[in-house]
Amino acid sequence: MSKTQPAAAVRALAACGQRAFGENYVQEAVAKQADLADLPLEWHLIGPLQSNKCREAAEHFDWLQSLDRLKLVAPLARHRPPARAPLNVLVQVNVDDEASKSGCRPEEIGTLAAAVAAEPRLRLRGLMAIPAPAPERERRRAAFARMLALFDALRAEHAEIDTLSMGMSDDFELAIAAGATMVRVGTLLFGARAT
Ligand SMILES: *Cc1c(COP(=O)(O)O)cnc(C)c1O
Repeated sequence: MSKTQPAAAVRALAACGQRAFGENYVQEAVAKQADLADLPLEWHLIGPLQSNKCREAAEHFDWLQSLDRLKLVAPLARHRPPARAPLNVLVQVNVDDEASKSGCRPEEIGTLAAAVAAEPRLRLRGLMAIPAPAPERERRRAAFARMLALFDALRAEHAEIDTLSMGMSDDFELAIAAGATMVRVGTLLFGARAT
């Protein structure tokens, strides 16, 4: 995760072989991408997406990890440039955090996934979650386990999905043990973010 990090820091990490970078905000990412256009990087958008940003999201990213509502699907598909591969999409699930507004409810996954799978310009890849920060490991482990169950259930309907994105700097090992296929690590790679 390279949000808040300057392009130079991304470039330094890319020189070490890191290829995929995640950003929370379209504007911030697009500026960085312009500075780094000479590098073969893969950009992931992982943050609340407003409908009026669907066009830029579809034009400038390889993955959208935070699809959480149906009304975004058609504009994303419509704006995906024909010259680019289909946009990879993860459905974001609000697995345990009632206070958070981002992520769909588990019972909405099927509808969202089916809508993505029906769009040739989008490619359904799986699920993403940001479990509530919990000091107790057991609570996080339980959230990760619920995500794996949701992922397995979705794969029974969409055999092509291959990505379960969960785990950050302080719990990526727990997430991998629980079945994550992609982790999102910021602080451990870049150092602490300026606040
Ligand atoms: C910033 C961010 C991360 C990484 O967090 P760290 O604790 O710095 O590793 C992971 N996922 C999302 C969605 C983020 O915004």
